[in-house]
Amino acid sequence: MQTKQKQISEGAQRIVVKVGSSLVTNNGEGLDHVAIGRWAEQVSQLLAQGFEVLMVSSGAIAEGMQRLSWHQRPSDIHQLQAAAAVGQMGLVQVYETSFARFGIHTAQVLLTNADLANQERNWNAKATLQTLLKLKVVPIINENDTVVTDEIKFGDNDNLAALVANLVEADTLVILTDQGGLYSTDPRQDPNAQLITHAKAGDPSLELMAGGAGSSIGKGGMLTKVLAAKTAAQSRTTTIITSGREENILNRLFAGESIGSRLIPE
Ligand code: GLU
Repeated sequence: MQTKQKQISEGAQRIVVKVGSSLVTNNGEGLDHVAIGRWAEQVSQLLAQGFEVLMVSSGAIAEGMQRLSWHQRPSDIHQLQAAAAVGQMGLVQVYETSFARFGIHTAQVLLTNADLANQERNWNAKATLQTLLKLKVVPIINENDTVVTDEIKFGDNDNLAALVANLVEADTLVILTDQGGLYSTDPRQDPNAQLITHAKAGDPSLELMAGGAGSSIGKGGMLTKVLAAKTAAQSRTTTIITSGREENILNRLFAGESIGSRLIPE
């Protein structure tokens, strides 16, 4: 099993790392500069080893709420969009400052599902991202929340990260979350829940494990991650769902350690 995982890691050159709001903001308490700094350090080490890394990061709404002194997440979608527009400024500022410590430039890229579905925009986005990677710049990608509301309502960027993986034909999509990975049942309720270490992306039984029968697509829960892995598999991208709070997580994963859940394309 170790050999198989090692091979997957060694084949990984282009990586998309997705971090969700709860991680970036330390459960909603403003942007977690320390956590972002740690990921920046690890990404800089991966770049030095020859990997290409793109980051998909949420956190704009949470940061916007903080800046506007809103203590409760509003239900009005336009208020959420406005908060995202305010917070995006702080989000990219923290990434830029964190990566600058390692001499690396970042680039702000705001995309939507519809952009990627349009042929010309898709080509432009792909060409820009590829140029940024050649320049050793780390793209910091978020949904353009001013013009769409998909990830605000459903995904917390899981789907966007998978579409980006398709766009750049990434080898690996790492979804960093606040849980250890995908479990056979909900680990918060079932002490016997088993971590799924390997599975085929797109296996329908994963959707049942992640969401339970009849569940709807929640905002950034496991179901959207399992569905993202299915989408990512269309470009033969392996998805790893794992905890962003694990020490040195990115370096350990790409040194071949078995951590979290690997959803592998058929
Ligand atoms: N794009 C949004 C953000 O960066 C999605 C996450 C959310 O709905 O909180 O905040």
